[in-house]
Amino acid sequence: MDYKVTKDCIGCGLCAGLCPDVFEMSEDGYSHVHANPRDEQTRTLAEEAMTSCPTSAIVKSE
Ligand code: SF4
Repeated sequence: MDYKVTKDCIGCGLCAGLCPDVFEMSEDGYSHVHANPRDEQTRTLAEEAMTSCPTSAIVKSE
């Protein structure tokens, strides 16, 4: 399961705060995926970040 941050990101920082193992803020102020989750706990947090993103900018592919 790979997560991706699309151009809809507004840089609110929520995902990186919620799941820093997966999401990280870039110098340009937007989030990106720096590592995909490798355990269930991280996966759960990444899912939470995805559903909480205010602009639905986090997507995933199988
Ligand atoms: Fe961007 Fe969404 Fe993460 Fe906020 S929660 S930084 S809008 S991807």
